[in-house]
Amino acid sequence: MIHFIILFLICFLPCAALGAGEVNDTPKVYDVVIVGGGIAGLTAAYNLDDYDVLLLEMKKEVGGRASTGQYRTVSFARGAEYLGKPEDALAEMIDELGLTLREIPAPADIVFRGGKFYVGELGKARLLVEKSNIGEFNRFARRLQEMYDTYDEIPDISLKGELARMDNITAKQWFDENHFPQIYHEVYNVTARGLFGAALDEISALAVLPEFAFDFDGFEGVDDEDELALELSETDGSTGMYTFDKGIGAIPVALSQDLGDSIRTNTRVTAIARVGELFEVSCIENGNKELSYRAEAVIIATSAAVALDIGDGALSGRQRQLLSSVEYAPYATIALFSDSPIFDKGFDLAIEDGNILTDIYYASWVADHYLPRKGENRDAWGSVICAAPKSYRDHSLLELSDKELLSEVLVAIDKVLPGSSAHVVGHEITRFRHGFPVMTPGSYQRMVELDKVDGQGLILAGDYLIYPTFEAAASSGYLAAEKAIEWLSD
Ligand SMILES: Cc1cc2nc3c(=O)[nH]c(=O)nc-3n(C[C@H](O)[C@H](O)[C@H](O)COP(=O)(O)OP(=O)(O)OC[C@H]3O[C@@H](n4cnc5c(N)ncnc54)[C@H](O)[C@@H]3O)c2cc1C
Repeated sequence: MIHFIILFLICFLPCAALGAGEVNDTPKVYDVVIVGGGIAGLTAAYNLDDYDVLLLEMKKEVGGRASTGQYRTVSFARGAEYLGKPEDALAEMIDELGLTLREIPAPADIVFRGGKFYVGELGKARLLVEKSNIGEFNRFARRLQEMYDTYDEIPDISLKGELARMDNITAKQWFDENHFPQIYHEVYNVTARGLFGAALDEISALAVLPEFAFDFDGFEGVDDEDELALELSETDGSTGMYTFDKGIGAIPVALSQDLGDSIRTNTRVTAIARVGELFEVSCIENGNKELSYRAEAVIIATSAAVALDIGDGALSGRQRQLLSSVEYAPYATIALFSDSPIFDKGFDLAIEDGNILTDIYYASWVADHYLPRKGENRDAWGSVICAAPKSYRDHSLLELSDKELLSEVLVAIDKVLPGSSAHVVGHEITRFRHGFPVMTPGSYQRMVELDKVDGQGLILAGDYLIYPTFEAAASSGYLAAEKAIEWLSD
């Protein structure tokens, strides 16, 4: 049926198949059409600048899960908040785009638990020692380091031995088999929910433990609490977390300026089909205008679920099978604007487990540090509340009305920061049906398989192919561009 509609469009509606500004009867054939203007799709387009490329994005702006909003003088992240130190293709792109990277000043992390705030780089360490003992903490930190060292072998993922085992067990199983006290589960369960929208018993040990190890990078163990305090005070103040004055969204904005007319926004792709040697990409522009574009190669840079839906007629059986095994966690962020800061003592305040909210980010933390004079004219303050499901299978975040979600969040922030809801003067809610691809057990194995599949010109990009972070999504776009070039040159 899809083929029939496409043939109909090609034969009888030639004008509909034209790109904007084209006047010929013969529809133009692009080298590559890219679906999705998140960082994966944008990076792919950027690395295909010698080719004739068209990127289609359904929203009115690019950026996807890494877009930045603006409320009066406050820039705030709707999704991605920070990066690790960018490397390779991403670092090069940031440099070429002329963007100034800012290291997030310390304290970047503060943990709230039992009415207390544990401040600083190793605040979590202090909390864990206080709630267990120094010996348990040393054992835990060392086991994480060992895990981290093993992880260095990725991405040479042959996934043998211990790596394969860690891919196949959940993080909770790892905590259980090491007999760590319950407090460790609680502290890291909320970390996993905040970072990936999934609980410790849902996410693969291999996927999440290196993330936890990052907290104690270089920590060699201590004999007593005095030594721990000394170790804590010896930190150099660097956080290893980065952003831009206007948030991570500065990258998609700069890329969209750089790519100019190669991007068409407000264009939702509905289907992709193979027509002879080419691909036919059908879409709806501005909510009502049906169009189609032809290309020699297509990069689908959306979530796996969307790729499966729109690519149904063109994906191989193996691609479909692997894509259908990717599960997603829903997620929401609630930006609260206030007449005075709700919390301005650090970048990320992590809340104890059991709440709808996992983190409160202070939106102006970086601006306060790097652009202090601008702060003098500040007419509002912003905090971004992360609302994560208790389990990725729980979709209530998508089902609550805006009013219900806001009211739950305001009650929750008052429990942590009493009286703060009274200062809220505005808000913006962003919901993500496909917030994070969940790295369920076996997901590394699945990635290896997905990478091996030859899509015959239909190429996949997106964070679910590597790791659910901005930088990994950018890498997937870079790799997709390489695959497209290889396909075009064959
Ligand atoms: C709340 C939240 C916080 C996060 N925080 C961080 C963080 O601090 N650091 C970090 O590294 N990572 C973070 N991440 C993860 C990071 O944002 C993502 O891994 C990354 O942005 C994914 O990029 P992507 O291009 O793969 O997907 P997306 O950004 O989702 O891009 C896909 C694009 O495709 C478009 N699209 C979908 N369907 C169609 C269609 N039919 N036609 C046309 N276009 C379509 C979408 O509108 C979207 O723009 C966070 C994610 C969330 C949800």
